[in-house]
Amino acid sequence: MRVSPPSLTQIVVLLSLLGTLSPHCEAKELLRVDTSFEGASAADIKIDQDIRTIEFTPGGDPVRGWPCWWYFRVDGIQPGETLQLKLRGSNATVQQPGAALMKPLSPSWAMPGRASISADGAAWSHSEKGTREGDWMIYSVRSEGTSFYAAWGPACTPQDARRWAAEFARNKQAVQSLELCRSREGRPVPMLRVQEGDKPQAERFGVWVQARQHAWESGSSWVARGFMEWVLGDSEKASALRRASEITWVPIMDVDNAATGNGGKDAVPYDHNRDWSDLPHWNETQAAQARVKDLIQAGRMDVFLDLHNPGPDDPTFFFLLDPAVLSPEKGDRQRRFADLGYRSISQAKPMIPMSVNPKMIGANYSKRWREMSSHWVSLHGNPQTVAVCLETIWNSPASTTDGYRKVGQCLAEALADFLAEQPPRRIP
Ligand SMILES: [Zn+2]
Repeated sequence: MRVSPPSLTQIVVLLSLLGTLSPHCEAKELLRVDTSFEGASAADIKIDQDIRTIEFTPGGDPVRGWPCWWYFRVDGIQPGETLQLKLRGSNATVQQPGAALMKPLSPSWAMPGRASISADGAAWSHSEKGTREGDWMIYSVRSEGTSFYAAWGPACTPQDARRWAAEFARNKQAVQSLELCRSREGRPVPMLRVQEGDKPQAERFGVWVQARQHAWESGSSWVARGFMEWVLGDSEKASALRRASEITWVPIMDVDNAATGNGGKDAVPYDHNRDWSDLPHWNETQAAQARVKDLIQAGRMDVFLDLHNPGPDDPTFFFLLDPAVLSPEKGDRQRRFADLGYRSISQAKPMIPMSVNPKMIGANYSKRWREMSSHWVSLHGNPQTVAVCLETIWNSPASTTDGYRKVGQCLAEALADFLAEQPPRRIP
């Protein structure tokens, strides 16, 4: 039998069939998920090597706070391929009477509209918008390299915070790099003190800025970073602020939970922001409170800023203490600070969604409302003390490292404007 040679059409069909099949024939490297580094967290990881999909939930021990933070590295990617990351909420609970997590946490806390992605764990950007399918949130991520980091939000680990502090302090006489304390697990807690010129200490405004009393709220560390960038900037206003004040800056309070990928919020026995009592449980709270007491003693506890990220649907806003439990004067002063903060942050470009109305916290907010840091400082501070909490939106296209840093820069400018309105302090 004579076999006729294939026609041109047959060759084209054969080649296109081979082209369709070839991705299945290629031996792709196996996808792998690494959670062995500082700050990493993921659980129930299932990898489908054929459809290149990774299922996971946030990791973290619920005794150490809400399990809503996730952060891991994917290796074994073929450059240019798109993976699906499928996130489900954690079912972890704490079965202790009175515990905050007797029932699983609402998954919305763990599910930003966009995942944060980084090629190197340092520079972060957003994924495309995720899609919600039943219990799952699905992010599609195209990778140009063989690996990437994925996280709930841009990460800032204790190691990052130490690096930031060292960079800010390099070659700057006005900046002292210090340690607030060692954590209960022995980790250093980086801290900076900024003051410039020869103004006597007793005449300087005392300013305290801290972030991450709740470890999962990584965006608040980036707000703290933007704050310090502005303070150390070249503007005349920033220079005047450095010459008039003494600024203490702690970018991560709960370093142990930030290092181990735990949420921190509502940790047992209580989290850092319910720990400002006469006998603090956590080393960082104890050390911060002792330094704040020194400022109060010297009559210089002027502005205390506690940085957080809020609920999934919240914009940026200030939390203030209800003037009914303060004094009308203190109520007016904290309101003035919040108005300046709003004026500054709401003008940021690109726009940061922010509420003009601060939320008021009163005695019925929480059993331990007096043990929340800004309230403790308001209640124990000097007559002029302003102590407020800033919650920065995390679930918006603006919740990037640039957006967070912008909020911090605007907040620092508002602080400079606020202090410029105050009468200069003279040594008594
Ligand atoms: Zn918080």
